[in-house]
Amino acid sequence: MEQQPRNNCYYLGKLYPVYMEVDPSIKKITIQWDGKAFICTSPQEGDIGLTDALRAFYTRESRKLIEKRLKLYQPSFKVKYKSFSIENHSNKWGSCSSNRHLTFHWRLILFPLDAIDYVVIHELCHLIHMNHDRSFWRLVGKICPNYKEAMAVLGTEKTREV
Ligand SMILES: [Zn+2]
Repeated sequence: MEQQPRNNCYYLGKLYPVYMEVDPSIKKITIQWDGKAFICTSPQEGDIGLTDALRAFYTRESRKLIEKRLKLYQPSFKVKYKSFSIENHSNKWGSCSSNRHLTFHWRLILFPLDAIDYVVIHELCHLIHMNHDRSFWRLVGKICPNYKEAMAVLGTEKTREV
């Protein structure tokens, strides 16, 4: 049986179909990712809880991915970050506090890896330069030469919806 996707959602910069399956024996919507599509198994017909379930999925995935990217780029910096968290309410893509805590928005996972890497590098650069002066941007450009393209992607597609 050919199933129609319920909708399409972004994941790492590409759109993928979302398929729904009903299983009355489960209590909560679960989301699986098979590399080509999202498969949502729900206890009932309809979209109830789907957006929340997708957000929870994206938050989990962004936490895993950003942890890996931080590990990859941290050796380029003398100062180490202390901790990081994934945010859902901020209107910023990321932040770096004076006690070296970094935050990242879960929506980053909707964008291409290059754009995510730029935000990771941007926040790590704040461990060295707390402002956005010339030496800050020089450092960003050294580690992330294509940062202007990444900024453009994040800037023009801010409305990318779940
Ligand atoms: Zn900044």
